[in-house]
Amino acid sequence: MLLIHCPYCQEDRPELEFRNTGEAHIERPKDIAAISDEAFEAFFFMRTNPKGVAYERWRHIHGCARFFNAVRDTVSDRFVTTYKAGEPRVEVERGENGVLKLKGAAQ
Ligand SMILES: [Zn+2]
Repeated sequence: MLLIHCPYCQEDRPELEFRNTGEAHIERPKDIAAISDEAFEAFFFMRTNPKGVAYERWRHIHGCARFFNAVRDTVSDRFVTTYKAGEPRVEVERGENGVLKLKGAAQ
């Protein structure tokens, strides 16, 4: 079973306790009523859906119920890290073995 680290509970918990709620770091337009239909479509529907590094928003729905961010490799389904909502985007890089890791961290 896949284990996911909740940055609030500070423990690895089974994936069944979590829900992926979409792409992370999507900024809501300041005056959403004033934007064009095309700008709203881009904000509301358009996502990067990358092959490789994905920044995602998750919720510990059957635990503390809080939202947090995760960096996941969509090819291997491996989580690189998780961090609290509101914290800045974490930088990652591929190591020599092809596995994603925190930027500057050892393999
Ligand atoms: Zn939690």
